[in-house]
Amino acid sequence: MSLSGLCQICESNEAEHTCAQCGTPVCEKHYQRDESLCTHCIERSGRDDVVNPDPDSGPGVDDDDVHRI
Ligand SMILES: [Zn+2]
Ligand SMILES: [Zn+2]
Repeated sequence: MSLSGLCQICESNEAEHTCAQCGTPVCEKHYQRDESLCTHCIERSGRDDVVNPDPDSGPGVDDDDVHRI
């Protein structure tokens, strides 16, 4: 048993990997080896088959701006 660190997602399994994007220690269950990312970053970035060419200069479909109509 080791107290070096627990997975920051489930907080129950021992962290065996570190996300390459957010640096969060995660267990193997919440780590995607193909992407080298935790499942949290995978969900935030969306599916890898959906690529945003340029999210900064979009046609104005940002969720932040669609607050008051
Ligand atoms: Zn976990
Ligand atoms: Zn991450």
